[in-house]
Amino acid sequence: MPRIEIEVKNVGSKTTWKEQYDCTGDPDTWAINLINEFNATLQSNEQPRELVGVKVLGDAPENVGKHEWRKENLITLVKGSMSYDKMRCEKCGITGKRFGLGGVKRDPKYKAEKYNQCNG
Ligand SMILES: [Zn+2]
Repeated sequence: MPRIEIEVKNVGSKTTWKEQYDCTGDPDTWAINLINEFNATLQSNEQPRELVGVKVLGDAPENVGKHEWRKENLITLVKGSMSYDKMRCEKCGITGKRFGLGGVKRDPKYKAEKYNQCNG
């Protein structure tokens, strides 16, 4: 989950300011969606905003060295009485399984200690 800094301004104004967020997916798309959503849900005391720039600052400090798991299967898989999701780390590519709502268990070939940390 990269941390990004976006530069925004009110439409029609020249003054810009910066805000930081943890975004998911593509930073540009995420920031554009954020502004679109803001503009679509304006309160009476708010003015529409315009995105000026997006800067990726890197991983949020709390996420450094952590795997970023993404579900690979579209529907939950069932094996006997267990249901699980196949997971893959977006940063380093190792795989694992998530049973129920618990944490992700790395697949046996990635159980070595060096995989505790994400080196993606
Ligand atoms: Zn990883």
